[in-house]
Amino acid sequence: MSHGDAITAPFWAGAREGRLLLQRCARCGAHQFYPRPFCLACDHDTLKWEAAAGTGVVYSRTEVHVKVREDLVPPYTVAVVALDEGPRLTTLIVDGDGDPGAGCEIGDPVEVLWRARAEAPPLPVFKRSA
Ligand SMILES: [Zn+2]
Repeated sequence: MSHGDAITAPFWAGAREGRLLLQRCARCGAHQFYPRPFCLACDHDTLKWEAAAGTGVVYSRTEVHVKVREDLVPPYTVAVVALDEGPRLTTLIVDGDGDPGAGCEIGDPVEVLWRARAEAPPLPVFKRSA
């Protein structure tokens, strides 16, 4: 998800404050992620931003063994996390110190951490809950 356009700007402003923001429809109450200009559930454009709890469960996972990014040394785990609010997001699984390389299993409870980046806002990553 880019961090330079108007539709995603509130998400990244929240990220800078360590808050995981989701869009929520004022008409039907549905949460969604990624940000879009209209509600996926009812098509209305009455969206507002709300802070998510930052907790969820692992919906699916895959271990990456090939180097595809300069800032990530394999092996590491990429997971689709189902947030408590409903939306799913693809994310990096980290250990308690925020470092990549931790594993996880489907159904594991996880919570958000923020991974600092040099040229961009912090990225939401997840660790297994204690
Ligand atoms: Zn709606």
